Amino acid sequence: MTTSPPGSVALDGIHSHLIEDEDEQHRRTDVEVSQVRLPPRPSGPGPYRLATICLATLCAIMLFSMVAAASLGRNKPQEGGEVAPEPQKQTQEMDMATVTATISRLLQEKKQLQVQIDELLVKLAVMMATKAPEPEPTEPAPPPIVCPRGWHLFNDSCYLIPVLKRNWRDSQKYCEIQGAHLAFIHSAEEQTFLWDLLPRGHWNAFWFGITDQETEDEWKWVDGSPLVGGFWGEGEPNNHNNEDCGYMIKTEVLERVAVSSWYDAPCHMNLPFICEKEMGVPH
Ligand code: CA
Repeated sequence: MTTSPPGSVALDGIHSHLIEDEDEQHRRTDVEVSQVRLPPRPSGPGPYRLATICLATLCAIMLFSMVAAASLGRNKPQEGGEVAPEPQKQTQEMDMATVTATISRLLQEKKQLQVQIDELLVKLAVMMATKAPEPEPTEPAPPPIVCPRGWHLFNDSCYLIPVLKRNWRDSQKYCEIQGAHLAFIHSAEEQTFLWDLLPRGHWNAFWFGITDQETEDEWKWVDGSPLVGGFWGEGEPNNHNNEDCGYMIKTEVLERVAVSSWYDAPCHMNLPFICEKEMGVPH
């Protein structure tokens, strides 16, 4: 360590003070200058510029990747995408062909139906233009049959059961005077109708229009027509004691029925009788 003379110590102190003042002056000047003019930028890449470059590069890479992926997606249809698999596509084409054929067939049928409609319309027009023939005048319906008082109507005939007793021949004469004849019975319905009119009694017998007086066992109606069938009782007719005229009977025996109630008896017997007036033919 060197020692300085007292004078030089003072000078040194002044000099140091000057130097410090000068430094202080320089610092002030630098601050003022720095406030007015920025220092020149470094010439090499700074940290922000480097980050910017890296970010731009990364963006370029991502953009390229996206473009490549999009292009690949267009060229290769993914499973479940809009592009149908080949078998499904073929099925759709077949369905479309079927629908097209059906439409074509229906159109053809429609055309044929239209032809038929046109033909029918023509026929209808002809029919409408042709005057319909006048209907044949129909005969007016006959008036309903009204039987005289005391007579009973069945089908087209009126029947009378007089409160009289005559032999068979006189019974027929009585009926003829009334414009009738002894009853003809041609059906079970007619037989039942007449039988129901008769009262029950011990042996209530009633002449009707059948006889075999001309030839034994050849029964005929009073108009000469032969008997077909009949509603004879059991074992009848038996011609017992020359019985040549027919009658029906309705006794108190309830087991007797209408369709087996005919008997033969001698024609001279006086019995009630049944007249029939046929209303369908003029007399
Ligand atoms: Ca007989």
